[in-house]
Amino acid sequence: MDDPDDRRFETLAVSYGEHATPEDGPGDVVSPIHLSSTYALPGLDTDLSLEDVDPDRGEFVYSRLSNPTRHALERRLAALEGGETAFAFGSGTAAIASAVLSVAEPGDHVVAFDDLYAGTRRMFEGLIADQLHVDVEFVDATETDAVAEAVSAETALVWMETPTNPLMGLCDIEAIADISEDNGAIFGVDNTFASPAVQRPLELGADVVVHSTTKYLNGHSDSVGGALITDDPVVAEAVGFNQQIALGNMLAPFDSYLLLRGLKTLPLRMERHQSNARTIAEYLDDHPRVQDVHYPGLESHPQYDLAQRQMNGGGGILSFELAGEMADAKAFLEGLDEFTLAVSLGGVESLIEVPAAMTHEPIPREERLKIGISDTLIRVSVGIEHVDDLLADLDRGFAAMAEE
Ligand code: PLP
Repeated sequence: MDDPDDRRFETLAVSYGEHATPEDGPGDVVSPIHLSSTYALPGLDTDLSLEDVDPDRGEFVYSRLSNPTRHALERRLAALEGGETAFAFGSGTAAIASAVLSVAEPGDHVVAFDDLYAGTRRMFEGLIADQLHVDVEFVDATETDAVAEAVSAETALVWMETPTNPLMGLCDIEAIADISEDNGAIFGVDNTFASPAVQRPLELGADVVVHSTTKYLNGHSDSVGGALITDDPVVAEAVGFNQQIALGNMLAPFDSYLLLRGLKTLPLRMERHQSNARTIAEYLDDHPRVQDVHYPGLESHPQYDLAQRQMNGGGGILSFELAGEMADAKAFLEGLDEFTLAVSLGGVESLIEVPAAMTHEPIPREERLKIGISDTLIRVSVGIEHVDDLLADLDRGFAAMAEE
């Protein structure tokens, strides 16, 4: 019963990690929120040492180390990504920092996608490179050859994100896994934009997967959290030490419960996110006021074939360029009622943002334009509302733009 390979993704999402146990108690069908910070030990004269404590046998000592609600969540996260071990953190940023700090040491070489989430890029440049003296090399990983050229036997870690934010670029997970393996490097993938319902990097050869669970995994815009899943025992041990001992960064019981609950509907939500996003991408693609649509599920996407190979659908996020100026983008956004102007993504409600004025505003304009983020590029996290209401709202936005 405990082998996740026995069941399909949708079944694991609903219940893996939490089981009704009527013989031991009231038979909770969902994991209770265990708030206790510490646990009564059986006595001093037992063989139970800290190393021997096994949460899988219901043994707990102190909630920073492990907690029943978080443990149930970590088991489910591992099952959904097809990994051996999972850790739940207080944010996606903390999960990424823990991965990097667990693998790279001062003097090591790290190769990273040059199109990472802006906060991750700042972490690599500031904390990892400047402060910890790791040699970080950024490459355009949409070109696998550029990764192959940069990675060598000196490389400790290869760090990727796919699809990227906000231009929806992809990197070839399987090919980069081969390059990493040939050079003895650990390969980590930030799978936040896709979710394991759409893309499973460990199955394609990655060693580590991370998530900002704040996004699709929780799915309801009411919890900040992170996850790291791995099938590499050495990485698992180092991350476990960092999470529980050195950095002490773990997800709180209430957020673990929210995430367990959110995950139950992940497969259903992703189906609707994807079908809505596809319909909206097609609508925008045909619209005279739209110059370009970036969505991996459209045949016009430059890496459509790769998307077909490594993703199960195009995902729920897209971006597009309005024909016009920043003022047109402003009028368009002000005409919308259903889409909320906000950063973040992956919740059930549709969110919209202008990277040049919001998430990517700190990047100097010249540099932004060079990487393809124009003043009128708009990113949409498509929610699970009725798609006709979303299309009607976009019509309102375009009408407001025409009146401007
Ligand atoms: N990774 C990606 C792809 C993100 O989009 C984000 C946040 O937007 C993060 C990581 C950071 O996650 P958090 O905000 O939960 O720390």
